[in-house]
Amino acid sequence: MFEKVQNFIVMGKSGSGKQPRVDVLIRRFGLKQLSTGDIFRHYLGLFNVLNVEGELSVFFDPTKDDFIADAEIKDRLNITAHENAEAIVLGLKAKYYVNQGRFVPDRITNALFESAFQALEFKGAVLDGFPRTVEQAQFLVDLANRKGVKLDAIVLVENEDELIIGRTLGRRICKSCGELYHMEFRPPPNPGECVSPNPVCDVVQRSDDNIESLKKRLEEFRTKTRPAIEYLKQAGIPFYSVPGNLPDYSPARVEASVCEILGLASTSPSV
Ligand code: ADP
Ligand code: ZN
Repeated sequence: MFEKVQNFIVMGKSGSGKQPRVDVLIRRFGLKQLSTGDIFRHYLGLFNVLNVEGELSVFFDPTKDDFIADAEIKDRLNITAHENAEAIVLGLKAKYYVNQGRFVPDRITNALFESAFQALEFKGAVLDGFPRTVEQAQFLVDLANRKGVKLDAIVLVENEDELIIGRTLGRRICKSCGELYHMEFRPPPNPGECVSPNPVCDVVQRSDDNIESLKKRLEEFRTKTRPAIEYLKQAGIPFYSVPGNLPDYSPARVEASVCEILGLASTSPSV
């Protein structure tokens, strides 16, 4: 089983411990990570450079339940002539949702996902954080069918909300290279400093890693992602649940736990 793997789907609550499991699959099967969260953070970064102060809700028109026109946003941001104007507007829109812990609307997410998946010719990916809603799941299954590629398995990383809350608030990330840290379990070597010697590296807290935003993300998971998992199971994709919390954490133990559940021989020495 798991011969000629094309694509894995890794799902789980925000902060459940997806990344180390994704790493195991990448190493094991030579796959590439495709993370919608990373894609959104890329666009957020383009917008953040402008240092816009104040609430982003001023760009939102509640009567239309949509943003004000793109041309108007560009005008207010003074970027009409900027070569990255479209991407910056996308960054503003993504940030509006991400910082509140809300899912970015399916229309935006599906389009960005498809172009990133297309860049990989629709195979060889660990899909991380996509799909998260029933509509995204339908979109993915249809896309895979149309392109004639397999979705080999769903790996759901399970974890309790209480544990996640403690872990997420201690989470830190390198703005430049994406290396993950935790103030308790894996502090940066010196405050704000990354293990990479790259001078532009800077370890910070994600702007959406606060308690309100996290609680909203956990609610989004319950109400929108659980049904998406059911949809994917119904579509016949093999399903595996792996623990997101190990009593005695080490990379070798994570590898062993994933391998055991997927029925793969573990390459780690005894753990
Ligand atoms: P986490 O590390 O908390 O699991 P991610 O880095 O995957 O979160 O995503 C960060 C944020 O980006 C999410 O809280 C959400 O706002 C947005 N996002 C990521 N993937 C999706 C998606 N598939 N659909 C909608 N929003 C998404
Ligand atoms: Zn770094």
